[in-house]
Amino acid sequence: MSIISTLIILIIIFSIWDWLKRKVSHSATSNYYEHGVHYIQVTCPHCHSALTIPGEGIWNCSECRRPFEYKSGHTYKCKPVLSPAITLIVELYAKFAKADGVVTKEEVQSVDSIIKSSLHPTDKELTEIRTIFNLAKGSSNGFQDIVHSLYELFQDNPQALLNIIENLFVISKTNGQLNNQQETILLYTVNAFNLADQYSTIKAKYYSAIDAYYKVLGCEPSDSLETIKHSYRRLVKEYHPDKYASKQLPKDIMDYANRRFQAIQEAYEQIVKYRTAH
Ligand SMILES: [Zn+2]
Repeated sequence: MSIISTLIILIIIFSIWDWLKRKVSHSATSNYYEHGVHYIQVTCPHCHSALTIPGEGIWNCSECRRPFEYKSGHTYKCKPVLSPAITLIVELYAKFAKADGVVTKEEVQSVDSIIKSSLHPTDKELTEIRTIFNLAKGSSNGFQDIVHSLYELFQDNPQALLNIIENLFVISKTNGQLNNQQETILLYTVNAFNLADQYSTIKAKYYSAIDAYYKVLGCEPSDSLETIKHSYRRLVKEYHPDKYASKQLPKDIMDYANRRFQAIQEAYEQIVKYRTAH
């Protein structure tokens, strides 16, 4: 065999090897620094989206949510520990718990017990669930995509969608009251899940909120709207942040006044809304 034909065979073998390598992995396209942090641009081996990661390790694609490993300049597909459905549910619970700005210890415990009782995860799955919860809690992505993906997965299973809504109410209950941000997520979710007509019924199971709102304003459900408005205005004046701002009061007293002020406004808005609807 001549040297040339040996070379040709070697080139063919190399090409096939290189082609096979590219079939299973995707090379990093570029590296760059930003604010002193090293970033690597890679392609998701599942959906081929361009992604930015800080280095080697196992990552979840932000587009298709499937895991991949980045190692020695290549990305490799990983088998997910959790199903996409569980991943999405955990992400939604995290977004919901984070909605008011902080995730309390009680909210984490509540999510944990919901997950344990409804999904019976193995230890390995539970570790992954906690990682996903923390990642979703910290990410700036909105909850809307998660909600729509869940609907796509469960549109033929309304009971599963109902369970998700009910669990959101359970999580909200750990802080006593449903705050505005959480209610915004709930309303968006019931609409996307085609369950908007059941919202008040589900909510009433968890909150007979209206009684609590009357209490905040020191009123009775039998009071006239005039009386309620009068009481509301008096309380708003009493707890208005401007009244305290100049007095240099301790922080906890300021916080208490702020919380009262917000609760008073919410109570009044809710009572007016409730009376208009009934
Ligand atoms: Zn992907």
